[in-house]
Amino acid sequence: MVTLKEINTIDELIDRVFSYNPDADFDLLRRAYMFSREAHQKQIRIEGSPYIEHPLAVASILTEMHLDTTTIAAGLLHDTVEDTPVTVDEIREFFGEDVSFLVDALTKLSRMEFKTSEEAYAENFRKMFLAMAKDLRVILIKFADRLHNMLTLEYLPETKRHRIARETQEIYAPLANRLGIGWLKTEFEDLGFKALMPEAYEDLVHKVAKKRDEQEGYLNEVVEIMHDKLTEMSIPGKIYGRIKHYYGIYQKMQRQKIPFEQIYDVFALRIITDTNANCYALLGLIHSLWTPVPGRFKDFIGAPKSNLYQSIHTTVIGPKGEKIEFQVRTEDMHRIAEEGIAAHWKYKEQGAVAKKDDKYFAWLRDIVSQSQKDTHNAKEFLETVKGTIFFDVVYALTPNGDVIELPYGSTPVDFAYSIHTAIGHQCTGARINGKIVPLRYTLRNGDTVEIMTTTGHHPSKDWLKFVKTHRARTRIKQWLKTKEREEAIEIGKGLVDKELRKHDLSPSLAKSKEILDIAKSYKINTYDDMFLSIGYGKVSPHQIVNKLVPEEEKTGKQPQKATKATEDRGIKIKGIDDIMFHRSKCCYPVPGEKVLGFVTRGRGVSIHTADCPNLDAVAVDKDRLVDVEWSTNSDMTYTVRISAYTLDKPGVLADLSVVISSENVNIHNIVSSATHEKRAYIDFTLEVKDKTQLDKLLKKITQVSGVIDVKRIKTA
Ligand code: MN
Repeated sequence: MVTLKEINTIDELIDRVFSYNPDADFDLLRRAYMFSREAHQKQIRIEGSPYIEHPLAVASILTEMHLDTTTIAAGLLHDTVEDTPVTVDEIREFFGEDVSFLVDALTKLSRMEFKTSEEAYAENFRKMFLAMAKDLRVILIKFADRLHNMLTLEYLPETKRHRIARETQEIYAPLANRLGIGWLKTEFEDLGFKALMPEAYEDLVHKVAKKRDEQEGYLNEVVEIMHDKLTEMSIPGKIYGRIKHYYGIYQKMQRQKIPFEQIYDVFALRIITDTNANCYALLGLIHSLWTPVPGRFKDFIGAPKSNLYQSIHTTVIGPKGEKIEFQVRTEDMHRIAEEGIAAHWKYKEQGAVAKKDDKYFAWLRDIVSQSQKDTHNAKEFLETVKGTIFFDVVYALTPNGDVIELPYGSTPVDFAYSIHTAIGHQCTGARINGKIVPLRYTLRNGDTVEIMTTTGHHPSKDWLKFVKTHRARTRIKQWLKTKEREEAIEIGKGLVDKELRKHDLSPSLAKSKEILDIAKSYKINTYDDMFLSIGYGKVSPHQIVNKLVPEEEKTGKQPQKATKATEDRGIKIKGIDDIMFHRSKCCYPVPGEKVLGFVTRGRGVSIHTADCPNLDAVAVDKDRLVDVEWSTNSDMTYTVRISAYTLDKPGVLADLSVVISSENVNIHNIVSSATHEKRAYIDFTLEVKDKTQLDKLLKKITQVSGVIDVKRIKTA
């Protein structure tokens, strides 16, 4: 665990800042310290020491990160507004805009910390991102604050201790990791582990110490060999022994269900050299000395992790037949691995990582823009963040050995889309480590993934059920949407063409100024949008084309159309005017019945009875169902079909006809068919006013002698 150099006075703090930034605004630091001490004067820490020790410790952690004076001053003041009568305005007055912004953001963050429900927890998380996106120094101070709290956790009651430790492991550690601050991530995880599982922690510390004693000689031997080789080949390089952090070991034991004794990478060797070329030279050297373990080589130099981590990892069978892991990197890579985003705010070294900043901010901007879209659902936001950004990731390899980082649970389809959209779209299968697997296969660390593609193949809607990455999901949805749109446009074009021909108009009018002018009266501005509206049935081709038809031609055809229009006007679709619709011929709904509309492709809205057996089959896409209601118009009649099941005897048909006519119902058509058992079905096509009339008629029909049953005909 990290040993923080103890700082007890403001003079020591100033000395520390001076060591890396001799031109710093020491007066600001001194004023901030005095102000904070004064403000916290009446408070004491839970262990009995003056409160000022906490902000001083936080500031000192910030100096370990070599941060600028604004950040350190804000660190000294971070609890003043939260815990004392001091206001943000006072901070602004005395210390300026930057310091007060940071203190204000930290105050708002800590006020949310004591909420307990899941929703509040998610909300807390979201706010942290928003504050962070404005100024990343907020999170660096928060990290320092949390680190000091974790280091002094023992003084707190158990429940509070556990809550803080859990939050540290679940939020702070992955966040530090995501921001590339390796040492903090390790620190948060180990401190959290120690607080939550003290026995397991102590046990592991003991075992690691024992193993180190046993292996020291062996490791020294390896270091010696490497050292000699480096000198011999005149490659600059410093070799360090490195212990995997405790929580890392513990997680590995849990994940792979193996005892401590089987963890071979408890100790690793890290070689830091000067150039990328020498990293690869060293890799070659290591592999020439000892046999590499297959599947354990990872090139994060060629393919950096998304937090910009770079290094080469390889595991070899060492001199005594024991597996040993090497990490090779340059000084620069090492600094980025340890400091990450913090390097950006580091005094005087801002230039070093500046060109990479964009990468840091890109994902952050992404998350923030998502969180803003979804302001009402913090929980969903948390899930997205959890799923795609934070927690476990898998590293899969391309056949060339390039490392692809994906969220845990990703599939070959995610992998394919992460390489290229076209590869994703055309992906038809995958081979993992040479074996064919289903596309929904869950990738595992170290899998070599070979994507099989077929030109002209398209994404499937089913893929949405299993893909994990945001990228794959949006690309698939985009494709499906474009495809659907294209289809609807094609249908629309066809319908316009047909309508034009029907009126002996030139098909070229489909793309004319005249037709577009008509479309504009429906608030449609482009040809594609016009075809699209027609294709989706929002506008009928008739509505558009009719206005192109010369007046004299229209008059001849009018009566026929008028009838149809009269009938159709009996239905109103909620919220939409001027829509083309028709009563479906499977259930023939009548006024008074509960009905639903289904937006067809190109034939407008079809109206079905709510219980129509066809509706379920047809309307798989629930988005295309619309609410409709009848607008009563006493003059209209509606076609409906009924079937009477009768005894096959003379006179029944005549009796039925009389009953129907006596109800003032017109009969369009009668079809009768006899069955073997001296029974008959007599089907009528009728015109009724509404459901009341129909129900009354059906009741009367059942009373006719010889009738066994009567039903509406609804064909599936
Ligand atoms: Mn604090």
